[in-house]
Amino acid sequence: MSHIFPRSCHGSRPVAVSGDGCFIIDQSGKCYFDGSGGAAVSCLGHSNPHVVEAIKEQLDSLAYAHTRFFTSLPAEELASLLIAHAPEGLEKVYLVSGGSEAVESAIKLARQYHVERGEPQRRHVIARRQSYHGNTLGALAVGGNEWRRAQYAPLLVDVSHIAPCYEYMDRSADETVEDYGLRVANELEAEILRLGKDAVMAFIAEPVVGATLGAVPAVPGYFKRIREICNQYGVLLILDEVMCGMGRTGYLYACEADEVSPDILCIAKGLGAGFQPIGAMLCTGAVYDTIAKGSGFFQHGHTYLGHPVAAAAGRAVLKNIIDRDLVSQVRERGRFLERKLRERFAAHPYVGDIRGRGLFWGIEFVQDRMGKEPFPPEVNLANRLQKVAFEAGLLCYPMSGTRDGKNGDHMLLAPPFIASEAELLGMVDMLEKAINSVLAPQTSKV
Ligand code: PMP
Repeated sequence: MSHIFPRSCHGSRPVAVSGDGCFIIDQSGKCYFDGSGGAAVSCLGHSNPHVVEAIKEQLDSLAYAHTRFFTSLPAEELASLLIAHAPEGLEKVYLVSGGSEAVESAIKLARQYHVERGEPQRRHVIARRQSYHGNTLGALAVGGNEWRRAQYAPLLVDVSHIAPCYEYMDRSADETVEDYGLRVANELEAEILRLGKDAVMAFIAEPVVGATLGAVPAVPGYFKRIREICNQYGVLLILDEVMCGMGRTGYLYACEADEVSPDILCIAKGLGAGFQPIGAMLCTGAVYDTIAKGSGFFQHGHTYLGHPVAAAAGRAVLKNIIDRDLVSQVRERGRFLERKLRERFAAHPYVGDIRGRGLFWGIEFVQDRMGKEPFPPEVNLANRLQKVAFEAGLLCYPMSGTRDGKNGDHMLLAPPFIASEAELLGMVDMLEKAINSVLAPQTSKV
């Protein structure tokens, strides 16, 4: 009997024993193509000798040194590499162990920044509906995924949630894309004014919404307007690139596509690429200096901050991405994948939308393409699709719709950057079979 407390107490899972390129192999020898990189984690696949070697070398020299006393070479070098390629203004790196920790750090840093500037009344965070920022209590509070928040609501601090930028469901037919982007961005200004001009400390958003909506980028101009509003009202802009960062969208930092720089940026998943748990919060020199010249101490911290082995893995992953120019490869393979997804699914009667960037794609399912009506929750569509695909040897990441505002079930694809065109085609073939077995195109069988 397993003594592991599983994610779900229903059913059992195969035992994963090895990894090879884009594949995971279980105890019975069955191979699974990792079409979602787990949850947009395994950007280099499952067997990268450079990263493995870097981890071993670090373990041989030093496994751990507490950051109260020491810094370490891999942590210093990783931070320098991140900053050398970072959006304008970002100058300092705080290394943590994952995405939720990065978001918690960002929220606390934003608060401390305002306190040290003499504006302790700034205590509100504004975030967006249908978003996900992590499962720890602070990150869960800013997240706008009602299903994940529901039972913990009494424990969560009060956060305002404005509309996401979700063109497929929310743009009205008589609105231009530009007008739509401005309308939803301006909700931020309205909420700041409602709370009080100097009451808001930060706005947080994912440049490309991952887990909750399924690879939804903002429309052009949206984030520029958001940046303007934040500047006007002294609100810090926190971008959560935990899922969409580190090359996943065809840009090393996803916000490059939106031509904005945040005050604070969070990354994780692709940084460790699954080889080690690591995340990071990057901040501007201005934010850092306020604290450095004030109390001189960021009142936060975890035992494993800047862990040398995790940092060595992150450094090797990032060097791999840069040295092999994998970001260009993501763009090129991404164009190929987009073409294939559209060829196969654009006309499918139950596919409402196909969207994404780079190697980060979402397919949204609706029961009525004209009315964009999602399937009822009891159909449990995304989970059923995921299960059928998994049995056939494909990992893709599902999310049910309608639990959280109006959105359909979707399937998220985030294959490793190293996937060949043939492998991507194989993934699309397997996905098509799964979709057609659950949602036969000519019938209303579900
Ligand atoms: N932010 C975003 C955008 C995420 O997608 C996730 C994880 N899915 C997190 C934060 C939380 O990261 P972690 O699970 O590593 O704590």
